[in-house]
Amino acid sequence: MPAQNLLDFDLAGLTGYFAGLGEKPFRARQVMRWIHQAGVADFSQMSDLARTLREKLAREATVTVPQILTEQVASDGTCKWLLDVGAANGIETVFIPEETRGTLCISSQVGCALACTFCSTGQQGFNRNLGTAEIIGQLWLANRALAQHHDGDRVAGSTTASAAPCERPITNVVLMGMGEPLANYDAVLAALHLMLDDHAYGLSRRRVTVSTSGLVPAMDRLREDCPVALAVSLHAPNDPLRDELVPINRKYPLAELMSACQRYLERAPRDFITFEYILLAGINDQPAHARELIALVRDVPCKFNLIPFNPFPGTGYRRPDSQAIQRFRDLLMQAGHVVTVRKTRGDDIDAACGQLAGRVQDKTRRTVHRIEVSP
Ligand code: SAH
Ligand code: SF4
Repeated sequence: MPAQNLLDFDLAGLTGYFAGLGEKPFRARQVMRWIHQAGVADFSQMSDLARTLREKLAREATVTVPQILTEQVASDGTCKWLLDVGAANGIETVFIPEETRGTLCISSQVGCALACTFCSTGQQGFNRNLGTAEIIGQLWLANRALAQHHDGDRVAGSTTASAAPCERPITNVVLMGMGEPLANYDAVLAALHLMLDDHAYGLSRRRVTVSTSGLVPAMDRLREDCPVALAVSLHAPNDPLRDELVPINRKYPLAELMSACQRYLERAPRDFITFEYILLAGINDQPAHARELIALVRDVPCKFNLIPFNPFPGTGYRRPDSQAIQRFRDLLMQAGHVVTVRKTRGDDIDAACGQLAGRVQDKTRRTVHRIEVSP
């Protein structure tokens, strides 16, 4: 039998696994703290476990994370890791440091089947879902890598580093990397449980955000199972345009999506939904679009996060100029909305939203993966 990767289990799963080994539930909690809080993968180092249990685990289980292929650090401190997920595939994870928080953006799938026309991941096709170990493994690895950076600073003799409270640089997690998290529901749910569990990462539900292109039935399930903060990728104020930009809209059109958002708010940790809206020059950035958008979200308490389009090789879309961006933002603000315009981080390492490409061996045999560039 292949060794069981313990990173695949949330607390309920690990407790069940330990019961199968004839061990008490508190052992599962102990091992969970070793793995996720102490970052220990070697059972022989888990000093408060009986030697017989350590030996049994060494025979039957592992703690295995994807291998880091490359690590890039941008001039603004943004870090991007490319992780090997087998069969020549790679996924990307990004850490974005800010003054008051540190956000880790993690991937949920190798590629994405939903094929949004402006998204580099979506244009590459889909290979497979990530497992829970590969999803939570990104947080596990990033915590370790960032702790090592911090130790490196200290070794280098920086006087500020030892005083800085960098013990836990990751304060927030967003599932906004490669893939559609709600299309990989079970693996994502177990990873969310681990992020929130006090024996693992202990993040509050407000600090964990799932971003979805609008899979309505899965939004309803998440509301029941684990209502973390929700961001919905809207990108268009009417069905014909959204059908084109976000093809899943043909299955779950805007009226259904708005109702699902209202239902989600009944259980959400915040009293608003974040609507993400990419700005594409000449496509969805006109004043008429802003007005239509205001009418669309009339009954949904929300905040807007405007994302000026980040180009990638082969795209035919353009980012609007700063005047058009400001005009769009001002119209929403005049209607009483809270609006942020997402700053591009990690510019010099292509770490921005929608630029995460990783390495995807497409299995969907879609024939057209790239939008042609107009001459
Ligand atoms: N599949 C999920 C989460 C991953 S995409 C979703 O679609 O919400 C994370 C965010 O990046 C989404 O809002 C997505 O629309 C946006 N995005 C994708 N491509 C982009 C690009 N080229 N420029 C800017 N944002 C992009
Ligand atoms: Fe998939 Fe999100 Fe990209 Fe759309 S924007 S293709 S849903 S990753």
